[in-house]
Amino acid sequence: MEIKAPRGTSDILPERAQYWDFLALEAMNLFESFGYQKIIFPTFEYTEIFQKGIGQSTDIVQKEMYTFLDKAERSLTLRPEGTASVVRAYVEHKMWNRPQPVKLYYYGSMFRYERPQSGRYREFWQIGAESIGSLDPLIDVELIILLMDYYRQIGLQMIELKINSMGCPLCQPAYIEDLRSFLESKVNEICSQCKKRYKLNPLRVFDCKNEQCQKIYKEAPQLSKYLCSECQNHFARVKKGLDLGGESFQIDSSLVRGFDYYTKTTFEICSPLIGAQDAIGGGGRYDGLVELYGGPPTPGIGFALGLERVTLALEAENSLPQKKETKGIYVVSIDDELRTEAFNILLMLRRSGFQSDMDYTGKSLRGQMKQADKKGARFAIILGPDEIESGTYTVRDLNSGTQENVKKDNLVEFFKKDR
Ligand code: AMP
Repeated sequence: MEIKAPRGTSDILPERAQYWDFLALEAMNLFESFGYQKIIFPTFEYTEIFQKGIGQSTDIVQKEMYTFLDKAERSLTLRPEGTASVVRAYVEHKMWNRPQPVKLYYYGSMFRYERPQSGRYREFWQIGAESIGSLDPLIDVELIILLMDYYRQIGLQMIELKINSMGCPLCQPAYIEDLRSFLESKVNEICSQCKKRYKLNPLRVFDCKNEQCQKIYKEAPQLSKYLCSECQNHFARVKKGLDLGGESFQIDSSLVRGFDYYTKTTFEICSPLIGAQDAIGGGGRYDGLVELYGGPPTPGIGFALGLERVTLALEAENSLPQKKETKGIYVVSIDDELRTEAFNILLMLRRSGFQSDMDYTGKSLRGQMKQADKKGARFAIILGPDEIESGTYTVRDLNSGTQENVKKDNLVEFFKKDR
């Protein structure tokens, strides 16, 4: 048996996990200032939730879901994304009884059986936000600006925003009809996947990554020419709002994103520095989803961003946050007998709120000092028999190398003063 994390998954070791905390904390502060509140939902749902919401024709439902039967033979699926769960929760808890729109955000890992490569994993982390209950184009603008502000706040500079309108059930059918005819005329030139895709839902061909297909689809009819007046008006107001907010963007008419539930506005943000998997976040409107799950007709819009790709982009821009300067204290004992006293000091320091540690592996004095350095401690308290007897300890500043004698009773005060 190979001792290895499953393909497409990885351990996030402390060196990298600190960025996850940073990204989550920054999101929490910013999203809450925009009026979004945290929601925590299950890691798995009944499979139909995703089949119905994301759509039978999508790559996610067709081939990427981790689906299994539980012991009672119920079909469950590990969440491949967050929107379906948030909307399911909105319907289950009748959140239309709360002040609208209900604005929620989440943080957690998602699961998709995709071919792993740089920036694409089978378990990956997302931060997402959803606003359910308003059709106001300004809510679209709010979410897009929230996402862009977030990227800027964490230090990303090279980010490109693309937007599109997917239309609505009123204007989409005529477009889909014409797209289908176009695809029929090209059926011998498109890949075998797309041959299947276009029969289920022609829109899904735009998810294809095959270059030959992409070239062909550049000549395909454009949805923007089919938008009904309401969709045109909505899109115009979103664009105006973004202009007023000083947000520059490109219109990408092939931006349909990989979910069937999208209507009207869709958007995606890319980093040009992280290779083929360049989308660091994206989202869109889903005005029919609440109703699809049995709730009253209720519009909604949301986005999700990928933590791994955001970290890759920060790395590429050389903008990962510096490791915080540690102010930890390492308690060193000259001989083994003094370790209980060292432990007592440790408890006193920790209970006073100081990050502190000691050796638990029987290291020599030299070894302990080295360890203090490796762990990035700022101070070492050195305990010897003389120190115990006099009740005065040697405190060494590991940055400057200077030492001071400090009475045991004054230790906490001493460190407090330094902060
Ligand atoms: P989506 O839920 O497909 O709209 O994706 C939203 C964001 O999640 C993307 O822009 C990526 O940053 C990230 N993402 C999606 N799929 C993966 C994956 N398989 N591995 C890593 N990140 C992903």
